[in-house]
Amino acid sequence: MLRHLLIAWVFASSLPLRAQRPEPADLVITRAHVVTMNAAKDVIEDGAVVIRGERIVAVGPAAVAARYTARKTIDARGALVLPGMINTHTHAPMTVFRGLGDDVPDRLRRFIFPLEKNLMNREFVHWGGLHGVVEMIEGGVTTFVNSYYFEEEFAAVVKQAGMRAVLGQTVINFPAPDAAEPYGGLALAEKFARAWRGDPLITPAISPHAPYTVDVAHLKKIAALSAELDVPVLMHLAEMTEEMTLLRKDHNMTPVEFLDSVGLLNRRLVAAHCIFVTDSDIALLKARDAGVAHNMVANIKSAKGVAPALRMFDDGLRVGLGTDGPMSGNTLDLIGQLGYVAKVHKLDRKDRNVMPAIKVVEMATLGGARAIHREADLGSLEPGKLADVIIVDHESTAMVPLFDVYSALVYAASPRDVRTTIIHGRVVMEDRKLLTLDTAAVRARMRDITRRINAALAAGLK
Ligand SMILES: [Zn+2]
Repeated sequence: MLRHLLIAWVFASSLPLRAQRPEPADLVITRAHVVTMNAAKDVIEDGAVVIRGERIVAVGPAAVAARYTARKTIDARGALVLPGMINTHTHAPMTVFRGLGDDVPDRLRRFIFPLEKNLMNREFVHWGGLHGVVEMIEGGVTTFVNSYYFEEEFAAVVKQAGMRAVLGQTVINFPAPDAAEPYGGLALAEKFARAWRGDPLITPAISPHAPYTVDVAHLKKIAALSAELDVPVLMHLAEMTEEMTLLRKDHNMTPVEFLDSVGLLNRRLVAAHCIFVTDSDIALLKARDAGVAHNMVANIKSAKGVAPALRMFDDGLRVGLGTDGPMSGNTLDLIGQLGYVAKVHKLDRKDRNVMPAIKVVEMATLGGARAIHREADLGSLEPGKLADVIIVDHESTAMVPLFDVYSALVYAASPRDVRTTIIHGRVVMEDRKLLTLDTAAVRARMRDITRRINAALAAGLK
């Protein structure tokens, strides 16, 4: 019904304009198989997407393109055009450590924290972060949510790359790579948030690491600062059995109840994982309007469990998908996650009907936008929204034949099928060539960093 209304509106509004002069536009994508992810889930087989400045001005059948004269036209024959994907939880600069500490117990304390203590620095964040950004742009991610150190350094390079991001400065109860004193990250977070608030691409945030690594007094300070500056809080939540045990022992609460008690459970929170949440936790997360990042691949690789993301999504919570850091899930694109999200939830429920492909694509796009409270601007291809658009080939071998676009994307697509990535109206990758970054230079720096990390590992970590 809505689909018919939309088509009718497009034709009705195009008729009287036909005699008028074409309107200016910056970019028109034509001959596209458009997967809008709008409320009616319209798919337009021969469609057009028109962009002016940083916003989408029209989406409709191919004829819509004739109403505009564009500075640039992209012929998207043989490809799907869809909203850019939103990675709601990662630690992108950790690409420098990718592949270290896999398949071993207690990875966090035996590998991640010592590696960071000994080796992580501003330079590694800069180049490792850029490498992660390249991977995400190449994989069709247009917005990501990141928690790490030296976040103001990272913000500058993310902006230069033309990516959209929510960047959280980490606050933790021990000396960190960017802060000699425990909780030194809090002052850095405040400075970062004040400096970057209002930026069109970068949303600064505060990232207390987890309920078991930040004390009550600092969590309350962070809640107050987040409210004062109206910046998001990014945090791991209900991820580990030890976390559950500790909070039960110290506070007689679940992690979700605990966050509520310190004033952090609200619309500014993006909670990563939420594996161990009770029915009442889910109701509380919904009542407080918090966002949830579901990191399926990282969670099954760590054998922690399957978060009730399907239940949360169906209950109307703000659930998006995330990759977690490259030491956890190894890759940063979302296309590689989609099939796992669909299939593991089916296995978990012993029901092949649940978590259909269309729902997984919604989680990767509009769901991610909801998780960061940006659904008015992001997550679907609709006039008025920001122009974060990806063009994905459907002519690779595994994508042929194409009967159901959602099935193809979830069960057969590869991140390497992404042809072109547009963020904030700017083409940042075209025909797989990055236009905002020198990828060869980034790769060369990564090789050098890998050599230095190997030398440090051979000498032994403290
Ligand atoms: Zn994480």
